[in-house]
Amino acid sequence: MVQFKDYFRNPAIAPFKQATSIQKCMRAGGKHNDLDNVGYTPRHHTFFEMLGNFSFGGHSKSRAIQMAWRFLTEVIQLPKDRLRVTVLASDQESYDIWKNQEGIPEEKIIRCDTKDNFWTMGEGSGPCGPCTEIFWDTQNDSLGEDRWLEIWNLVFMQHYRNEQGQLENLPIVCVDTGMGLERLASVVQNKVNNFETDVFEPLFKGLHQVMIDAGMEYSPDINASPHKKIIVDHLRAMSFLIADGVIPSNVGRGYVLRRIIRRALRSGNQLGFTEPFMTKLYPHLLESLSDGSYPEMNFRQDSIKAIIHQEEEIFMGTLSKGLALLEPVFKQKDLMDSKQIPAEVAFKLYDTFGFPLDLTVLIAEERGWTVDLAAVEKLRQKQQEQGRASWKAGSSLMQSKTLEWKEQGIFPTFTGYQREMLTGQPS
Ligand code: ATP
Ligand code: MG
Ligand code: MG
Ligand code: MG
Repeated sequence: MVQFKDYFRNPAIAPFKQATSIQKCMRAGGKHNDLDNVGYTPRHHTFFEMLGNFSFGGHSKSRAIQMAWRFLTEVIQLPKDRLRVTVLASDQESYDIWKNQEGIPEEKIIRCDTKDNFWTMGEGSGPCGPCTEIFWDTQNDSLGEDRWLEIWNLVFMQHYRNEQGQLENLPIVCVDTGMGLERLASVVQNKVNNFETDVFEPLFKGLHQVMIDAGMEYSPDINASPHKKIIVDHLRAMSFLIADGVIPSNVGRGYVLRRIIRRALRSGNQLGFTEPFMTKLYPHLLESLSDGSYPEMNFRQDSIKAIIHQEEEIFMGTLSKGLALLEPVFKQKDLMDSKQIPAEVAFKLYDTFGFPLDLTVLIAEERGWTVDLAAVEKLRQKQQEQGRASWKAGSSLMQSKTLEWKEQGIFPTFTGYQREMLTGQPS
């Protein structure tokens, strides 16, 4: 919705009053970070497609709610008795609109606090407002809280939070809604998690084939561990990031990408891969996107695969050495009580073996252990002060690769989208 931010504040400048969109979404850093959820919950990805509709003074709050309800119960034909909604406790208007909506009894309208039902872009200034969310009853008690699957969030942009943190009222209530395509697919296809939908079918099939080709044992069960899910999810994320011009690096979005790739490789290691494997999955990613909505994934595939492969070569060389350093820690008697990985070990994994810290935390958490992040940060700062080069492993190779990619123009300034769309050829 970032592209529409200014329209919420000043609907008069919007070239249209209503819009619909399918947006590529990444939630692997910043305020919305689902990296740790992937593979462990039925519903989270790092990359997903968000279906949205918007109003910049084009329709009212009640119309937005009515349209959402109609879409779910008439167009998609979900049974009404399996839906429930939340509203912000102080947003009586939304409560009343739902109350008057046929098919939703009052006990299915739940008032929530601002933590869940007041939407803001981030910590700073920007449009914001109350939201109402629609949940699907999976009827699966064993899921606990996850029994209720959030499918759609309707945000009413009623305020602007200024630089001083105060809420100003916006002149006109605008609407910004978002629904996860993969979640909707899991509901429509009656699956217990997103990964069982047809969106991911070619990817798991491909992964199994690649495992067979590598002479590995495999079971068709995708729910046995988080690792297959992490691999297919992260493959989508890394490929879309690279296609949009991100290159692995040690800062900013490049580091988000590197973390994603390295987490996927570590999951591959857990499955038993000893050789680079990610790029062998790429044709299956293309198959899963075969409707042609993302042509750049096809015609940029050589560059995307080259970059993933380089990252694999760099990290796979140190991954098993790093894991071999970590493994004995879990057996160390003097740590059995604290169940905390010594900061020195976590730092060495980061500094010498290129383990992103969150990867070490993930491995620790799988065993019920923790990492003293503050102590690791101190070590990192101390090292920085001493001016020693970090990221010894692979860093010079990486730098020269990045330079090479730049020189080869693998990622020039992206100006040719239209032309690429038309010709199917990169400009
Ligand atoms: P949750 O509470 O399940 O983490 P959310 O409240 O963070 O979801 P929103 O920020 O409201 O999600 O995003 C709008 C919609 O996008 C959600 O209702 C959901 O359908 C979808 N969505 C959000 N996060 C993810 C994700 N990580 N993977 C897949 N779909 C997602
Ligand atoms: Mg979330
Ligand atoms: Mg939520
Ligand atoms: Mg939400």
